Amino acid sequence: MNSEEILIAISREVSTCTKCELYHSRKNAVPGEGPVNSDIMFIGEGPGFHENQQGRPFVGAAGKFLEELLADIGLSREEVFITNVVKCRPPENRDPLPEEVGTCTSNYLNRQIDAINPKVIVTLGRFSMNLLIPNSKISQVHGKPSKIHGRLVVPMYHPAAALHQGSLRPVIKEDFSHLPEMIASAKEIPENDLNRSQEEDEPKQLSLF
Ligand code: URA
Ligand code: SF4
Repeated sequence: MNSEEILIAISREVSTCTKCELYHSRKNAVPGEGPVNSDIMFIGEGPGFHENQQGRPFVGAAGKFLEELLADIGLSREEVFITNVVKCRPPENRDPLPEEVGTCTSNYLNRQIDAINPKVIVTLGRFSMNLLIPNSKISQVHGKPSKIHGRLVVPMYHPAAALHQGSLRPVIKEDFSHLPEMIASAKEIPENDLNRSQEEDEPKQLSLF
């Protein structure tokens, strides 16, 4: 299977998945969407009300703000891959449980990352950040890229947090404004560095930004 076929297969599996408890409360699973050859991948937390209704990621208020942040740096949502840690909406928007996160990411998100092989992963909020940069604090690392498995991982505040807490708005805008230079620098990382099996002991925080 080529990467596109793998992504389509993952979406099909997700749409009927019953591997964790979250399938009971969902209306539509939300696999994620975007070009298979995207250089940049955005990973949120999980579907909210509107995403659950429509089966698409970031289509509510947080999605509108994400589109605005992308437009500010000359990108549209169609040009990037957007997905979530868990693909089904937790009941009453509760936090996904560690077991749900483990089941969903080992079955789907990790395979999506492998298939897309992005140069840059932007984590939105602490759930996706904790997966890729364990033991980090968003208040300390937001906007700072780490080189992990040969790609840049950039933790950002969740757009919904910035909507609820006005003081974060300029912070997330400023952090997003540096993404184009980070994408450019990530493109300099040699292809053979992007082999996930080459384990690196510790995420290295880059000092360039
Ligand atoms: N918040 C998320 O984390 N993901 C979505 O898809 C929508 C809102
Ligand atoms: Fe399957 Fe993930 Fe949905 Fe759980 S959250 S049912 S693992 S797709």
